[in-house]
Amino acid sequence: MEYRVTLIKGDGIGPEVTGATCRILNAAGAPIEWEEAPGGLEAVEKFGHPMPESTLNSVRKNRLGLKGPLATPKGKGYRSANVHLRQELDLYVGYRPVRTLPGISTPYSDVDLIVLRENTEDLYAGIEHAINEDTVLTLKVSTHRSGERIARWAFEHMRNHGRRSILCSHKSAVVPLADGAFADAFERIASEYPYIEHDQMPVDSLSFELALDPRSFDVLLLQNLYGDILSDLAAGLVGGLGVVPGANIGDQIAVFEAVHGTAPDIAGKGIANPLAVLMSGLLMLEYVGERKVAQRIEKAVFDVLEEGKHLTGDLGGNADTARFTEAIIDKL
Ligand code: ATP
Repeated sequence: MEYRVTLIKGDGIGPEVTGATCRILNAAGAPIEWEEAPGGLEAVEKFGHPMPESTLNSVRKNRLGLKGPLATPKGKGYRSANVHLRQELDLYVGYRPVRTLPGISTPYSDVDLIVLRENTEDLYAGIEHAINEDTVLTLKVSTHRSGERIARWAFEHMRNHGRRSILCSHKSAVVPLADGAFADAFERIASEYPYIEHDQMPVDSLSFELALDPRSFDVLLLQNLYGDILSDLAAGLVGGLGVVPGANIGDQIAVFEAVHGTAPDIAGKGIANPLAVLMSGLLMLEYVGERKVAQRIEKAVFDVLEEGKHLTGDLGGNADTARFTEAIIDKL
C-alpha cells in the first residue's frame, strides 16, 4: 500500500527541513508518494492567499499532510496560514509528544510528556474589533462541544497507548466562563474513564512545576493559547525547538508538522536541524500503521544522536543539515 501525502514545504527553514525529511523517508523505503502543494509566501504570490483552497483540497483528498513552517505576511490582512489550515480542516487536536532524546544533554534525563492543545477555538478564533480609538476587543471562544471532543480524543488515546494520568490546565479562576467550560467538559468525559487518573491545575502553577520537574507529568490537556505557549516551554526541556515533532489531527485528516516556526535567523544557511519535521514524519508513519519503518528510522536517528559526531549547531555540534541527514541515511 502506498500513501499519498500532501507536502507543504513552507517558508524560512521549511524547504531545508522538509527536503531532508523526504530524503530520509525515501531512503528508508517508506511507502509514500509526495504531492507537493504551495503554502505560505509562495502561495501568496501565486494564489493571493497563504493557504489556498487547492492546497486544502489536496489535503482533504489525501487525508494526510506533512508541512514545514509557514509565514503569514504581516499587516496585509491575512490570517495565520497555520490557524486557517487547522480550522478549515477541523484538525482539533494539536498533538505534541515531548521526549528526552538519547545523546542530547538536558537538565532532566527522562522526560516523556504529551502536550495536547485544542486547535480550533480560544483567542485563535480570530474575532476581534476596535470599539473606539482606545479599546480593542478579542473574543475567547470556548464551546462545550470542542472541550468534550478533545477530552474524549485524549482519554481514548491514553487508553490505547497505556498512558497513566492526564492534567487539564487552565485559568478558570480568572476566566470562569471560557476556561470553566473547558474544565467542565474535561470532568464530564473523565468520569467515563475512571481507570485513568485525572486532575486540574492553574496554568501558571503548571508552568512553574514543569520548569521545576517535568517528570511528574504524563499527558497535559490545554486550550489553544496555553497549549501553544507550554509546548514551546516543554520543547526547551528536551533540547529545543529543533527536536520536538507535532501533529494536527481531526476525525478524518491529519497534518504533521514541527512545533517550531520559520526561524528566519538561520533560513537559507543550510544549518537547520531537520529532526523535528523528521520525527513528525515518523508520527505520520505510526499513525497509518507503518510502525516498522518508523522504528527503523528512529533507531538510525538515535544512533546518530548517541554518537554525537554529526549534530547540528542547535544540538551543540557543527554539522550542517546535509551532513546530519547523510549520517542518518548511512545508518539506515
Ligand atoms: P516564526 O516567526 O515563524 O515563529 P521564530 O524565529 O519567531 O519564527 P522559531 O522559528 O520557532 O520562531 O524559532 C525560534 C528560535 O529557535 C530561533 O532562534 C531559531 O533559530 C531556533 N530554531 C527553530 N527551529 C529550529 C531548527 N529546526 N533548527 C535549529 N534552530 C531552530
